[in-house]
Amino acid sequence: MAVTLDTPVGALAGVGEQRAKKLAKLGLTRAADLLEHYPRDYEDRRQEYHIRQAPLGPRVCVRAMAAEHPRRARIRAGLELVQVKVVDQTGALHLTFFNQGYVERAIRAGEEYVFFGAVEEQGRRRSMVNPIFERAGRQEDTGRVMPVYPLTAGITNHLMASLTRQVLPCAAGLPETLPQSVRQAHALAARTYAVENIHFPADEAALALARRRLIFEELFYLSVGLGVLKGRRAEADRACPFPPRPRADFDALLPFAPTGAQSRVMDQIAADLASGRPMNRLVQGDVGSGKTAVAAYACWLCAGAGYQSALMAPTEVLAEQHYRSLSALLSPAGVRVGLLTGSLPAAEKKRMRQALAAGEIDLAVGTHALISQGVAFRRLALIVADEQHRFGVAQRSALAGKSGTGGMPPPHVLVMSATPIPRTLALIIYGDLDVSVIDELPPGRTPVATYVVGEDKRRRVYNFVRRQVEQGRQVYLICPAVEEASAEWGGPPAMDLKAVTTYAKQLQTEVFPDLRVDLLHGRMKPREKEAAMAAFAAGRTQVLVATTVVEVGVDVPNASLVVIENADRFGLSQLHQLRGRVGRGRHQSYCVLLTASRSPEALARLRTLASTTDGFRIAEEDLKARGPGDFFGSRQHGLPQMKLADLSGDLALLQEAQGAAQALLAEDPDLSRPEDRPVLDQVRRMFSDTPDIFN
Ligand code: ADP
Ligand code: MG
Repeated sequence: MAVTLDTPVGALAGVGEQRAKKLAKLGLTRAADLLEHYPRDYEDRRQEYHIRQAPLGPRVCVRAMAAEHPRRARIRAGLELVQVKVVDQTGALHLTFFNQGYVERAIRAGEEYVFFGAVEEQGRRRSMVNPIFERAGRQEDTGRVMPVYPLTAGITNHLMASLTRQVLPCAAGLPETLPQSVRQAHALAARTYAVENIHFPADEAALALARRRLIFEELFYLSVGLGVLKGRRAEADRACPFPPRPRADFDALLPFAPTGAQSRVMDQIAADLASGRPMNRLVQGDVGSGKTAVAAYACWLCAGAGYQSALMAPTEVLAEQHYRSLSALLSPAGVRVGLLTGSLPAAEKKRMRQALAAGEIDLAVGTHALISQGVAFRRLALIVADEQHRFGVAQRSALAGKSGTGGMPPPHVLVMSATPIPRTLALIIYGDLDVSVIDELPPGRTPVATYVVGEDKRRRVYNFVRRQVEQGRQVYLICPAVEEASAEWGGPPAMDLKAVTTYAKQLQTEVFPDLRVDLLHGRMKPREKEAAMAAFAAGRTQVLVATTVVEVGVDVPNASLVVIENADRFGLSQLHQLRGRVGRGRHQSYCVLLTASRSPEALARLRTLASTTDGFRIAEEDLKARGPGDFFGSRQHGLPQMKLADLSGDLALLQEAQGAAQALLAEDPDLSRPEDRPVLDQVRRMFSDTPDIFN
């Protein structure tokens, strides 16, 4: 059967129904998918050794002749050995195969083979266990640079390589997707060559060429896609102007005087909003710097101009909290605030939708539900995204496309983030945004005293909790919960929610029977969550056992202690955010990082947190310790997943690709030329999770 790009993997040699299912798990259903399932590494199996010269330890190729017929022996049920001695002019090598009975027939005395495995030596006796072997001169997996593929249970690298080999001839039929001019200008290999050599490189040079081409390609499509988005925004040069209003009127609503930094940023925002051009501004400010008030100011201006605004938060808990505090702050000024989250009861959601469409709500607070389809605003003119790093490019683009009915121009966009992002990456993600920084904390804050504490001091920690409560304060007790960790952070394994629930019960009954302990986690019903948060905010709950749902933004100034269980399982930036839950009022606050870890690195990492409160420094440490791959996990920056490119590492190539993308878009801004069709298709594919981008 001739394999084509569309051949289902199930039709390939070596793949039955079971394996087809497993391959599907890796996203591999057609031959073409295999071509794009790139190796994650390579093993150089080109060098062949004589038996005596082979280095001990690493897996190497040894060429030798079978000196005898293999001997097969059953040691006991389930354990069978095949042994055979092979020789060359330098000596003998004793091979042992476990539970591979076929070897008895596969190896014939007098024939020459190449064996790939680790050579061991005892005395003068050299041996190898379970080598890969092939007849000399008929080699596929030896004598070359072998790809090492990302795998899943039940799919071996040998199988992956064999499948790729079967479909590789189709690579010749792959259409070229980069414009000729771009390939020439940047000295990029042809697609077919690149795909062939990324799997089975002829040599290092071929691999380097292949990688360069494929990485460039990814970065190019990414840049083109983001460039199209940017262009869309630039096109929209008209926006609703919000007439200036006296700042004093807003300040009078606040229970505090804004800091100098808040004031400055508010003025910048007011100028943007009055200009009649769309605002695209990022406000960066460390936890607790007071971003909410700044956002409220923008929404207040918007309502004053007679338009609607939408404020999106990354979690329901935070959306609910914003809803409460913004209603309290702004309703005295006549601003009508509403809440819309995904899991509100259907009737309530419907009512909110209608109110939004009718223009009866001035400020809608919510989660992603705000941008889900079916939510129409009557005259939406401002969108605020809080803790933006959780919102992807996809969501932002959907937002920007969401203007009101009746010919409203695209809305102003205000993005707020507490996560410092390295400049290069920010250039890609936020390239089209103006940046304001709130570089000052409200007065009267004392830094949160932070301690790294071992499990053996758990009792003392509990006593400390009790003392805080006796002084009228409140306490967070944070547990990493597996469901949420994986949903939001791709994070480390942690307790499951049941364990968290059990733990909370145990604390209530056994440790703090006289205190009011409550539980908050992401999987609770929205009403329960809201009730738990409200009870804590009102001071009725004294100890809140919570998962990372409280990580961003939650604000209860009376809370003075946060205890973080298994602290070593979190990233430093995340711990910094969690710590930011306390120290928000006038009380001396504490953060206790509980850990059972004895690893010096883990402890040193945690101590960084004890030694600084500077979010940017902490992010840098995080980057050093966890590496860019983790820090830039696509979930955090919201960009499409790259297969080969490393957004923090391939900077030079990234700049080249960005240049090429800009040049292309300058000629063909919406990729409508027939010759740019392949690029458009690839960009669409890359942004396929971003349905609103290209239609
Ligand atoms: P974040 O930047 O982390 O979102 P918030 O907006 O939640 O910070 O503000 C943190 C706390 O500081 C809140 O309790 C808020 O009321 C308070 N706050 C904000 N600005 C000021 C200020 N200028 N003076 C005093 N307290 C302030
Ligand atoms: Mg906030």
